[in-house]
Amino acid sequence: MIYLRNIPEEELFCAQLELLMQHGRVASMMANLIGVIAVMGLLWPYFDAGDLLLWGFGILILLLLRSLHMSAALSDRRYLSRPKKLFWQLVAGSAATGLIWSGTYILVSPYLPVTIQYLLLLIVVFIAAISLAVMVVIREYFLAFTFSALWPIAWWSLANFWDQPYNLLLGFLLLALTGLLTAASNGIHDTFRRMLSLNWQQEAMARELGQITNSLRDRNLQLQEARRQLTDLANIDELTGLGNRRLINQTLREEVNRARRSHGWVSVILIDVDFFKKYNDTYGHPAGDEVLRRIGDIMQRATARAGEVAGRYGGEEFILVLPGARAPEALRTAERLKRLVYEENIPHSDSEVSDRISISQGVLSIMPDEDVDPGVLVDRADAALYEAKREGRDKIAVV
Ligand code: GH3
Ligand code: MG
Ligand code: MG
Repeated sequence: MIYLRNIPEEELFCAQLELLMQHGRVASMMANLIGVIAVMGLLWPYFDAGDLLLWGFGILILLLLRSLHMSAALSDRRYLSRPKKLFWQLVAGSAATGLIWSGTYILVSPYLPVTIQYLLLLIVVFIAAISLAVMVVIREYFLAFTFSALWPIAWWSLANFWDQPYNLLLGFLLLALTGLLTAASNGIHDTFRRMLSLNWQQEAMARELGQITNSLRDRNLQLQEARRQLTDLANIDELTGLGNRRLINQTLREEVNRARRSHGWVSVILIDVDFFKKYNDTYGHPAGDEVLRRIGDIMQRATARAGEVAGRYGGEEFILVLPGARAPEALRTAERLKRLVYEENIPHSDSEVSDRISISQGVLSIMPDEDVDPGVLVDRADAALYEAKREGRDKIAVV
């Protein structure tokens, strides 16, 4: 039964962390890198090149360390057992990056012309805005950056409102901007979470569907196997493993039709064990069963050609259907059978014709030109068999 489930909260949390690390890592690195290059270009005329390079290098090292940390977490996936720890590490890293930007601004502003100072601020705001898109999958991660990058600048601007003509306005604008970004982050963050849980649900349903499909396929195979076994049971004689009367009649019907269409021949050999009642009386019924089994094996060996079918027609009577065989060929098969039974050498002390088990056979070969009932064919073969019995048994009679 497929039903909709919600993603467990811990799993959703881990998925958020993973998404942040996979996609946010490179994007926030790039945004910061662009920021570093822009700031270095902007401040080049006002500061010592060595100091600037040191500053840029410091930030890059920090970014690189954060990125490596995320790569390691992603590859060993140990955070799955303690996601909160990784979460706080990420948030702390994000806050540290933000503080570097606000600290830089506050420290260098007094030495800059006002236009350059505001351009610098623009760069910081630009990085915060870009971060919204990539970091917001973990809201705290984004807020840690935004507040640590923008708030110190906002409060510093308000505190030093007399230094520059627009500091007061700037301070309020920055406070408003952080408020706006925070509000915007709420919506985007929720959308991310919904997207992740939908994804999870879809995967869970696909997995479940896959399992159901597999079990249906297994069930189908079992049904096919059961049907095959049932068909076998209905067509196979239990004692000898040969086809039973039902299978033989069906085969006969098909072969007669085929022969009619192709103007070909069909031969039938009906076989009866001689003095079998006496055998049972002498050696017991189980021994009689064993004889029937051995004769069944001989029959199977005698039907070497494709299309030939051996069956147990009932009691101690067997039958062979030889498609395409004319009388001489059928006779040869009957003689081979007789020889094989003789060579099997099953002692039968009570037989009146031999010292061992023997068989009588009635052979019928026809080229059917009309629809002949299998029963009629067997009756005619039985007439020949009767003839063989009448002639003294251990004989073959052909009609
Ligand atoms: P004939 O030479 O005229 O064929 O003599 P017969 O004794 O073989 O003929 P009859 O038809 O009188 O007897 C067949 C015997 O086959 C009777 C029955 O006890 C035995 N028989 C039939 N089915 C089975 C079987 O499944 N197992 C055993 N052990 N005997 C069977
Ligand atoms: Mg009989
Ligand atoms: Mg018999």
